[in-house]
Amino acid sequence: MRIAAAAGDASTFGQVNTEVRSTFHGSPEDEMKRTWEEEKPLERYNAMRRFGTTEEPRGELQRTQGKTSYVIQKHSATALHYDFRLELDGVLVSWAIPKGPSLSPKQRRLAVQTEDHTVDYRDFEGTIPEGEYGSGAVIVWDRGTWEPIGDPRDGLNKGKLEFVVQGEKLQGKFRLVKLAAKDGDRAKKNWLLMKGSDRYVRNGEDGEIVKRLPGSVITGRTIEELKSGTPAKVFARKKATTTPRPSASKRSALGPFEVNLATLVEEVPTQGDWVNELK
Ligand code: MN
Repeated sequence: MRIAAAAGDASTFGQVNTEVRSTFHGSPEDEMKRTWEEEKPLERYNAMRRFGTTEEPRGELQRTQGKTSYVIQKHSATALHYDFRLELDGVLVSWAIPKGPSLSPKQRRLAVQTEDHTVDYRDFEGTIPEGEYGSGAVIVWDRGTWEPIGDPRDGLNKGKLEFVVQGEKLQGKFRLVKLAAKDGDRAKKNWLLMKGSDRYVRNGEDGEIVKRLPGSVITGRTIEELKSGTPAKVFARKKATTTPRPSASKRSALGPFEVNLATLVEEVPTQGDWVNELK
């Protein structure tokens, strides 16, 4: 389905990129050309940052297997915004959304496309130092996986990308629709993020999930708490629980157990040890 996912090893991956690159005939001033069309993916991302100073990860193309990641980072920069990122072909394709996502299809949120980010960026939570690009606090507001509806490369090029998100806060169908360019380069980067119709729709105040659930899905902290140096909240991580662990003698003779989380699949597996949980 995805070029990167289909690649079995590093050499295949390189080969695929070369093939795709050779089909690109864009103009040099087209700064929003896609990663698979760039000579050096993440060049812009790297050029904009000083890695000795900021703790953000250095950009490199990364292959991942299986489902592709989705993340939203709340970023208190010059203006507060939500960075919406979808992993595709080894990078995180990114948009900055001033108001953040809504669960209501009636709310169309401006999403300004920004430079592709390195996949490792999905774990970045912290403070970008003053004087650096994007200086300010960043929390991981939501994360999970996404799946495109249709060909995502086509969607990006044509300006209509439809997909399903499986996050901790956002679920279900969303779409990004590019606005027609009206006044030069800036307008070319403007998209709208909209919730698609499904059972995850919520209208009115219920739909304003950025207000209802402001904290980090990694540490439980809000942007304000991160800024003031509040440590990660204990509830956010099971390993930080205050409940004392039972002594070895009280533990089950069969334990310790690993939690067996359900995995969403399209078809019933025919091999292995599976139990079925309807979702
Ligand atoms: Mn940002």
